[in-house]
Amino acid sequence: MLFVEHLSAGYEGTPILYDLSFHVEKGKIMALLGSNGAGKTTALRSVVGKIKPTSGAILYEGKSILNIPTYKMVELGISMIPEGRLLFGKMTVADNLCMGSYRIKNKRLIQKELEEIYNIFPKIKERENQLAETLSGGEQQMVAIARGLMSRPKLLILDEPSLGLAPNIVKEMFEFIKKINHMGLTIIIVEQNAIDTLQFADYAYLINSGKNVLEGTGEELLQNKKVKEIYLGI
Ligand code: ATP
Repeated sequence: MLFVEHLSAGYEGTPILYDLSFHVEKGKIMALLGSNGAGKTTALRSVVGKIKPTSGAILYEGKSILNIPTYKMVELGISMIPEGRLLFGKMTVADNLCMGSYRIKNKRLIQKELEEIYNIFPKIKERENQLAETLSGGEQQMVAIARGLMSRPKLLILDEPSLGLAPNIVKEMFEFIKKINHMGLTIIIVEQNAIDTLQFADYAYLINSGKNVLEGTGEELLQNKKVKEIYLGI
């Protein structure tokens, strides 16, 4: 579904990504793993047009999206949930969700989308009238992801959804993401939390200093000596 080939990119002349390649197949969960500053967010920003790569190719459903501006990504079916949730704290959960369907003008259609989200995630419905700032971190993250679903994406890109969450909530978050994947969405997830992520990702890439280091199925990387060394200290 998405092919990123030999991508080089950076900020104001400072190179961050060097010849980075990764891809995700339709219906799968792909993880980009790496430590702080490895370039994971920069790779995502390149995919959604927030920064312009210096070289390389990005193909989505067979077509180049290199020169497509970020605001058009939603029309293509690509939705990115940035790190840090970015909900509107003084707005209710329902209003936050409706912000995700800003492209839909028909109020009845927005309501229909909302009902669908509530049917799939009844826990979010329980909170619909609560101000977003009063939710727990895990609940806020789920609402942020659900808001991304309101535009009916085909490819959902998640930047560190487990950041700052307690371990038991992280598990719940990953179950939530799996459920979305089972609904048919293709998912790219960026995580520092490698071991948990590898347990549910179909395929993963380990990157370091903006370069490919390792790739394989979640299971293969979990068994990999280098991964064990880096992430488990074994
Ligand atoms: P983290 O998990 O800490 O977010 P990451 O793997 O997502 O790490 P990036 O956020 O892509 O890493 O950052 C990679 C490098 O790019 C870092 O050295 C960072 O300081 C630098 N960088 C990130 N954003 C900018 C920016 N807007 N301007 C200049 N340099 C930046």
